[in-house]
Amino acid sequence: MEILERAYAKLNLSLDTPYLHQDGQQEWDMFMVPIDLADSVTIRTTDEHQAIHVDSTSGVLPLNEKNLAYQAANLMRQRANRQDGVDIYIDKKIPVAAGLGGGSADAAAVIRGLNRIWHLELSETELARIGLQIDADVPFCVYSRPARVTGRGEIVTPIQTKLPPLWLVVSKPAISVSTPKILRQIDYDKLEHGDMPALMDALEQGDLAEVCIQMFNVLEPVTAGRYPEIIKLREKMQKFGADAVQMSGSGPTVFALSNKESRAKRIYNAVRGFVQETYIVHIIQ
Ligand code: ATP
Repeated sequence: MEILERAYAKLNLSLDTPYLHQDGQQEWDMFMVPIDLADSVTIRTTDEHQAIHVDSTSGVLPLNEKNLAYQAANLMRQRANRQDGVDIYIDKKIPVAAGLGGGSADAAAVIRGLNRIWHLELSETELARIGLQIDADVPFCVYSRPARVTGRGEIVTPIQTKLPPLWLVVSKPAISVSTPKILRQIDYDKLEHGDMPALMDALEQGDLAEVCIQMFNVLEPVTAGRYPEIIKLREKMQKFGADAVQMSGSGPTVFALSNKESRAKRIYNAVRGFVQETYIVHIIQ
């Protein structure tokens, strides 16, 4: 049997890490939204005993057990106690290593897909728990709805936001950022934390001006300190009229938010020559 799952990229409207667990893992407090920039993941079960094959349109992805989609298939096969093979084909549209959660989105797509193919009827909570073994962003991607994410990534609380229609210009500079490297540079004593309850209130009330004030990403100063391109990109987006500008995840992707399509197009035209990839996208509410 073969099915197609859409794997949506995410943006962090907020990213905070209140503390480090003793085992070295971060405690998270994030608000994430899925956007309509997506990979298409085709999942097919086969008769080939326990064999998992991954292929992709992207030339830069690992196709072995390092691929997060491969790991997802392996975990689901063990959970379902199945001996089938699984073939995965990833039509890659989400920029890689960008802070957009592309690998996590693919892994979540495989988890959801195999849950359907094998009629496992596992709840989103159970699927999220399986996903957490792969990466902190996978549980969110299982839900793929606007949500607050806490704990090590496993506590996903979907929130009904009332945002007006928004256009987001998502731009990835031509630099590669290693998330573990950025996380190692956090100085917990100096971190300035955001006001998550205020952001949540603003999102639930659809108060865009307040959302723009309350958005935050504690990793942005860390990544931008290493890569000044991020500061330049932010300044350009602000100059061309963005309501808010922020880095997503550990970067390097920066996004500008606007409630006017014309302004988003102006920002898009202003930055497209300076970055490797840029898109105009919408939040999936
Ligand atoms: P995160 O912030 O969760 O680390 P990201 O959005 O910055 O992720 P990804 O596109 O998920 O970045 O890629 C991170 C790393 O994961 C890359 O080095 C890539 O080689 C590896 N990877 C493994 N599987 C995938 C996949 N299916 N899609 C994208 N990257 C993958």
